Amino acid sequence: MSFEDTIRYLFNATRIMDVGDRIEKLLVTPERQVKVEVAIEMDDGSLGVYEGFRVQHNDARGPYKGGLRFHHEVDQDEVNALASLMTWKTAVVGIPYGGAKGGIQVDPRGLSLAELERLTRKFTDKIEVVIGPQVDIPAPDVNTDGQTMAWIMDQYSKYHGYSPAVVTGKPIELSGSQGRVAATGRGVALCGLWALRDLGIDPAGATFAVQGLGNVGSWASRILADAGARLVAVGDHGGYLHNPEGFDVEALIAHVEENPDRSVMGFAGADEIDFDTFIASEVDLMIPAALGGVITKPVAETMRCKLIVEGANGPTKPDAHDLLVERGVMIVPDILANAGGVTCSYFEWVQNNQHFYWSEKDVNDRLEPILRKAYESVNEIATARKFDHRTAAFIMAVREVGKATVMRGI
Ligand code: NAD
Repeated sequence: MSFEDTIRYLFNATRIMDVGDRIEKLLVTPERQVKVEVAIEMDDGSLGVYEGFRVQHNDARGPYKGGLRFHHEVDQDEVNALASLMTWKTAVVGIPYGGAKGGIQVDPRGLSLAELERLTRKFTDKIEVVIGPQVDIPAPDVNTDGQTMAWIMDQYSKYHGYSPAVVTGKPIELSGSQGRVAATGRGVALCGLWALRDLGIDPAGATFAVQGLGNVGSWASRILADAGARLVAVGDHGGYLHNPEGFDVEALIAHVEENPDRSVMGFAGADEIDFDTFIASEVDLMIPAALGGVITKPVAETMRCKLIVEGANGPTKPDAHDLLVERGVMIVPDILANAGGVTCSYFEWVQNNQHFYWSEKDVNDRLEPILRKAYESVNEIATARKFDHRTAAFIMAVREVGKATVMRGI
């Protein structure tokens, strides 16, 4: 996922809307980019030095909000791109946040739990001046989870007093929200079900493929399987598998959780395939739920699915997107499809601020209408003006963020 790609999608909308140079300029560049050196003592006594980032893109509509990624490919450009996407995502679902993103350039699989904790706490020390419950609220992303958020909350609270609302995606025992773990995947699955029906495909019996059976991919697969859809191809960092009869999704997720490498590989009763075969699967629905930039133009040329629902952030490169749209493939873009997570993060933050907690049913009952409204609004713009769904979603987001930016003043 590059910043250039995000800007191409953004400019597509700003040029259609004719917002003018002044607004366009304000909407493009991040408002603050923080880069820190995170040095920790490793278990063997050596020194580990890592680069950490926090980028705050736009806070016209509310405090900055966005995940924190631990991955060896994290760099300034990627974090800028992901921060910008968060601005548009929070606007599409109409929650009162801006956009931010952070990350540390590290392969966490090479670190012990104690090293990970030291790294997370040291990173928090470095960024505590720019985050806060009313300023910027991090959340989990690739390779970070409730435990990571617990360490950040604890470390931040040492400076500022007990502050659960400084991060979301916390464990339930530490002021987390019911339903948060499943929320992103739930939103992806709901968008998948709505879009399948819009395409005239009955979800019961529809086939789907998922790249990445982590947090997002596993929950999306579970909910789609519960609706009767069949997972026939799946893969992750370890490799790819095919089973035309359909995987037992619960058994597959249990296998990943028990596998020390956290991969689908080694699951019994499936054929091993390569990425090229996986991505070319003839399925109704393809869900990229791993990393950005996987659907390039040459990859898109081989794809045979009818619908793509973007669980991952930025999985589709702009030229691949255009080619797929031309070929009639419907794409539910990331800024809509995976917005269930940040919407539920918003619920968590509201509960933290009110010190009043909701049941899982309350959370899910509030999540679905927000996502449904966003899905329908994007669909309406797409249908009325004959735009693809990504352009429609960006138009909707730019309209909201642009208005807020102008009203607040420069
Ligand atoms: P995760 O760490 O739980 O899972 C990541 C998955 O990607 C794993 O299955 C992993 O094996 C796979 N993966 C990693 N490298 C890969 C590679 N080179 N090739 C194929 N697969 C690979 O992360 P997650 O939280 O499920 O996030 C997945 C995507 O969803 C990311 O793009 C993230 O930005 C996006 N997202 C997550 C949330 C959330 O709430 N967790 C919200 C919005 C968007």
